[in-house]
Amino acid sequence: MQQMASNNVQISEIFTSIEGEGILCGTKTMFIRLAGCHLKCRWCDTEYALPLNSGNNYSFDEAKRLIIKCLQHYTYKVNFTGGEPLIQYEAVVKLAKFIKQDIGIKTYIESACFDSDRFAKVLPYIDICKIEFKMSDSKVVSARDYKNLLINELKCLQMAIENHKVTYIKVVVTNSTEIKEVRDLVKNIFGFIGNTEIAGFVIQPSYKIDEPTIERLLEFYDIIYPFYQEVRIIPQLHKIIGAR
Ligand code: SF4
Repeated sequence: MQQMASNNVQISEIFTSIEGEGILCGTKTMFIRLAGCHLKCRWCDTEYALPLNSGNNYSFDEAKRLIIKCLQHYTYKVNFTGGEPLIQYEAVVKLAKFIKQDIGIKTYIESACFDSDRFAKVLPYIDICKIEFKMSDSKVVSARDYKNLLINELKCLQMAIENHKVTYIKVVVTNSTEIKEVRDLVKNIFGFIGNTEIAGFVIQPSYKIDEPTIERLLEFYDIIYPFYQEVRIIPQLHKIIGAR
């Protein structure tokens, strides 16, 4: 697993743009893209951020100054994204604490939730959690490791809810995503949590790689709807409007 010295942070990029995914799509958002991800989603669109030495290395004071410099008026939230932000979870703790307590803006994490112990450490400093459940056709991990990933994702979901975070679920689907796998996942999730405990369930179609047909998307929708009527199919807005 990739590691980073805990007195520094490796940041791929920081910028302000329009949130393009999920239930807060359309909000003005600052993105802090942390470098590093050991996972291997076949539709990953931030491959430049996967190496832990991508981007620039900052002391925490330098990173805080950079955040203040990049911050625009009326920013709704700050996203910790990646890469996979839990790789540098200690840095997320320090920077999220600074953003919440010193700047006073909502913090948001988007994570593949591969390690629930790390997630527990960052959670006190996060307001909004996007819990992503990876389907096996994403090839995120080897088939042998998939069950362990799912267990961690479920634990993170439960922890976020128990700690009263605004919590929603995202699943990226392709045309190869199996109906049975989605059905099993949804039964698993709603056997674990109540359907009033989440703020949303988003089906996100893959972009330019094995894109699902409308019929396929509606099949996925129909599987989730009996469990959670507020399910939404939402493509990535930023790719449609050409935002970063
Ligand atoms: S978890 Fe995210 S950053 Fe890592 S490979 Fe998958 S899509 Fe890319």
